Amino acid sequence: MRPDDFAPGTVWLVGAGPGDAELLTMKAVRLIERADIVFYDALVGDAVLALIPDATERVSVGKRSGRHSKDQRTIDTMLVDAAAAGKRVVRLKGGDPSIFGRSTEELSALRKAGHIARICPGITTACAAAASAGISLTLRGVARDVRFVTAHSRRGAALDIDWSSLAKGESTLAFYMGRDAAGDIMRGLMRAGMSGDMPVMIACDVSGPSERRLATRLDLLELATRSFAADAPTLILVGEAVEHGIAAPAISETHARQSHG
Ligand code: SAH
Repeated sequence: MRPDDFAPGTVWLVGAGPGDAELLTMKAVRLIERADIVFYDALVGDAVLALIPDATERVSVGKRSGRHSKDQRTIDTMLVDAAAAGKRVVRLKGGDPSIFGRSTEELSALRKAGHIARICPGITTACAAAASAGISLTLRGVARDVRFVTAHSRRGAALDIDWSSLAKGESTLAFYMGRDAAGDIMRGLMRAGMSGDMPVMIACDVSGPSERRLATRLDLLELATRSFAADAPTLILVGEAVEHGIAAPAISETHARQSHG
């Protein structure tokens, strides 16, 4: 990083990864260490927050799927105000800022106000979940692509998802914000023709202290999801590639697809 990459008044949207501080990039660590102020989401792990120097101002903007403690426009304004005050600003976002991270809104608000805003990438949850489970999201002859899908809908509205395009197979599907919509995902995919025994992995608190994974099958997805805490961040992976894992035994579980014991 060149010295002028973080001049006063600059804002960096920094990918904080899934939780484990060792999964941060070196650039992210340097930016966190040099910031005057750090704004962070609810999903940024404690281990990452622990890297913020004591003297640095820190502001929780607590955004979490469905439960926004600050709305997006308020966050945009806070970032613009901090930049206008000549601070070096880090905006920490869980995973990668470009995956369901509302980064475009923040970047355009900052640029419109005349500030320099840049992105430092992070490891998105789907990649970290695959890594912990020892699976590959793509797999020769099995999974030709990966789809990152949001299963978050506006309050009370049905999910606006093209199920038939997802159910064609040969893809690994990564559903973010899908815990509460697990039943809809299961029914949507099965109605569109996906087989009920399609492998599924539910991954909760990926890379964090209470990481938990469950291998199951599509027609058991709704039931299986109930065993996860409602407020824990949860990712759902669906596809044939999900079954080809070499999961670390201490933290993996199996459900229905393999016999117990
Ligand atoms: N930008 C983030 C995603 C933000 S959307 C990224 O790239 O990963 C928030 C959703 O991400 C959560 O609802 C959950 O589905 C998923 N998520 C984020 N962190 C997670 C974690 N540590 N374990 C499991 N899922 C996680």
